[in-house]
Formats: sequence, structure tokens, C-alpha cells
Amino acid sequence: MTRGTVYLVGAGPGDPGLLTVRAAELIARADVILHDRLIPAEALAGARPDAQLLYVGKQAGGRQVPQEETRRLLLEHARAGRTVVRLKGGDPFVFGRGGEEALACLEADIPFEVVPGITAGVAAPAYAGIPVTHRELASGVAFITGHEDPEKPRSALDWPALAAFPGTLVFYMGVRALPRIAEQLVAGGRAADEPVAVVERGTLPGQRTLLATLADVGERAAAAHVRAPAITLVGPVAALRDQLAWLERRPLHGRTIAVTRARPQASALAARLRELGAAVVEAPAIRTRSLQAQLPELAAYDLVCVTSPNGAHALFARLEAAGLDARALAGCTVAAIGPGTAGALGEHGIRADLVPAHAVAEGLVEALADLDFHRALVVRALEGRDVLPDALRARGAEVDLLALYETVAEPLGEETARAAARADYVTFTSASTVRFFVAAVGSLDGPRIASIGPATSAALREAGFEPDVEADPHTPDGLIAALLADVQR
Ligand code: SAH
Repeated sequence: MTRGTVYLVGAGPGDPGLLTVRAAELIARADVILHDRLIPAEALAGARPDAQLLYVGKQAGGRQVPQEETRRLLLEHARAGRTVVRLKGGDPFVFGRGGEEALACLEADIPFEVVPGITAGVAAPAYAGIPVTHRELASGVAFITGHEDPEKPRSALDWPALAAFPGTLVFYMGVRALPRIAEQLVAGGRAADEPVAVVERGTLPGQRTLLATLADVGERAAAAHVRAPAITLVGPVAALRDQLAWLERRPLHGRTIAVTRARPQASALAARLRELGAAVVEAPAIRTRSLQAQLPELAAYDLVCVTSPNGAHALFARLEAAGLDARALAGCTVAAIGPGTAGALGEHGIRADLVPAHAVAEGLVEALADLDFHRALVVRALEGRDVLPDALRARGAEVDLLALYETVAEPLGEETARAAARADYVTFTSASTVRFFVAAVGSLDGPRIASIGPATSAALREAGFEPDVEADPHTPDGLIAALLADVQR
């Protein structure tokens, strides 16, 4: 990466997963990012905390930051020796004015590079189940701007030629001009019953597709209140959507699910829900804060119980800080409260000796029934339940608690709280998320409530809410399975 270079980067059509590896890399390293409106928020989240993010898209009132102003900013920052990423929706060279900006760099003798992106004209149809070319149906595809200067007396587009084009026509920016586009194509000789697809918000949550014909698309798009951004595709391939629509067939399509767990754990659950078609609201109600507890001599215990993945990671962070490693647990029987915790221990080289079938404290107590032990250590959160230590003491063992972290509230933004309250489901994966989420949001009347297991359900009831769904097994996998079953109910 050369300083003082301008990178003209495509951010793809909206789904953050469609950002290229190169784009993500440059975003993470840029000093300055000039971006448009149709950029996935997740893409910008990858920027350096000290990077300067400058918005150069449409402002309130619908006015665009003038192109000269954008150009001036690009050149000014590059001349100051900064690494500048000019981030555009889709592909920078497809109706993105990337060519003009590259020419401006050239003229100013500023080095530039171009990073292509996935263009909406291909991606939105693909997410609607429409291939832009298909053997025997379309052997070519044309990208056309549907936005023309309304002041211009004559159209710049050669409509008879477009109508005669032997392949698929893809119109960008054409929502308002739809009736005119359809009219001109029919006047130019396209069949009035030729299929047309309008894909609104392609690849984004809430993507909508209207399948119509040239004869009725104008009227039907108006009736359905189709809005920008939308791609209009004309050609027989549009009819393939009937067979190839895949997005809407995913089991959680059309459902909004709020995830309340702490951010580091939320992303894996959120990613899997998204893969199943859900729109996910990440509303972390908690985060963990590590505590400066003294690490005891682990060899003194014959049993070490770890009651959460967080606890496992915190324990190993503490061992590492003390210059130790997994061998510190060599002589101990290690019990994990569930598969998630066992997995976290596994990441640090410890295979848990005991993992109960029921991932709750009671299950662990049961699993320990046949074990002989005298001194036990319970690694947990400060606010953990006493079920496990009490039961171990009742068995005559000497029990020490090691609280390595505590759970604290993560302030929820107002917008996030509102979005969560409007979701179809709110998922809870621990008693503490329940308490902090309810404190932040107050009421939970709209969504169905999904709980990961009995301890979480008990916290919900205590807060006055009856869970609609309870997972079994009490794991993220179990929670997803329970949601899928509830959706099909
Ligand atoms: N450079 C961009 C296009 C910019 S022009 C690209 O390569 O995709 C803006 C137009 O692109 C919008 O008016 C709309 O027609 C289309 N567009 C952009 N994002 C879209 C999306 N997610 N779904 C449907 N159309 C989109």
C-alpha cells in the first residue's frame, strides 16, 4: 500500500458478505475513506478507529455532495500523503463515476488503483433467482442507465436499438422512469408480454422482487410502491425466478431475530441465523469485564469446574499472564458445563473429562455423581449461581470459587432497542442477558421470546415474561433448532 494513493474501491451491492477480500483489506488500512450512501455499515466497521470517514453521498433533502467537492477532497487527502479509499456501492466503474475520478487522479499525477466490486445489476437478479445470461434464453446482457436528465428534450438512449438487443436488459436507477422504459421498449418492438423483474434492495434485508411483464410493470411497480435502490431486468431469463428463487425459500426468510448476547459471542449466532435467511438485530445487552482475581495453585485441586466459555478463555488468559500453560491443569479432573465451554477449553489444549448431557449446573452436578474428589475449584462469573458449589459442598468437598469476570450492562442505543422490540423473535442465551435487556428495553410485548434453557427461562419468568420457545439441548445449536421448529409451527 503506497501512501498518497487513491483506491477506487467497489463495496458490492449491500450484503456485507459480498465485499471483496481486497476491499476489506484496504478499508482496514485506509487513513481516509470517502463513501457513498449505499455502503454496507459492516464494511465501514472494518475501518481503523482513527481513520477519517467522510460521507460524500446524498444529503438530507436529496442533494448530492457535488462531484467537484468529492474530487477536491480525494486529491487534497492524497496530496497530503494519506492513503485514500474512495468506497462506492457495487462496482466503481459501473455507473459509479469511478472513471471520472480516475481521470482526475491521472491529471493531478496522483497514483490510483481500482478494486472492482460486485455490481448490483448482476447481484440483485442473482439473489432474486435470475441469471442474467442463460443458454438459449439470453446470450448477452446490457447494463443501461434508466436515469436520464428530465430536462433533456430527447432521450440519449437509442430505444429501437435497445429493443432490438438480443439479450437481457438491466436498468440501473430506473424506478421513476419504469413506465417510460417499458413503453419505449414495446414501441421499439419488444413483446408486451416479455417478463420483467424489479429487484428492490437487492442482497439487503428486506429485498423484494416484483415479477411482471412490459405491459403491466409500470402500474404494478407503482401499486407496490417500489423504491430505489432497485434494478429492473427485462428478458425471458426473468421467468426463471419461478424455479430458481432461493432466497425466499430459506427457512428463516422474512423473520427478524434479535440477538442479545455479548458481542464476541453474538456474531457466530448472528451469522448462522443470517445464513438461514433471518434479518438479525444485534442488540448486545451485556459485556464481560475481567476481574483481577488471584490465580490459586491449581495443582491443589482434584476437580476444576468451568461454567462458561468466557470462564475458560479468562482462565487461560490468566495462566498465560502468569507464565503458565495447560500443564497447570495436568493433575486435575476438568469438568465443563456444556459443549460450548468444552469447545473453549479445547481451543487451549484441554479436553474436558466431563461434559454433562444437560448444559446446566444441575446437569453437571449429576454428571459428577460417580466422581471422587476432595478439593474443587469452580471457575465462573462473579454473579454465577450457587447451585454447583452448594452441591459440591453437600458432597463433602472443600470448594473454592474463582470469579475471573463479571457481567455488566452494555448500553443499547435507542434505535437498536426499538428494532429489537419490533423483531419477530428475541433470543436470550443467559440469565444476565435477560436482566440487562429487560432493564434497557422495558417491555417485550411484540416479539416471541426464545430462551436457551431453564436457567434463562427462570430469569425471564422472574422478569414477568413467559418464554415461547425453550431450546433443548441448551446450546446455540439447540436454540437455532428450536427457532426453526417454532417457525414451522
Ligand atoms: N456502482 C453501482 C451502481 C450505482 S448507480 C453498482 O455497480 O452496482 C445506483 C443504482 O444502482 C441504483 O439506483 C440501483 O438501480 C442500483 N443499485 C445499487 N444497489 C442496489 C441494490 N442493493 N439493489 C438494487 N439495485 C441497486
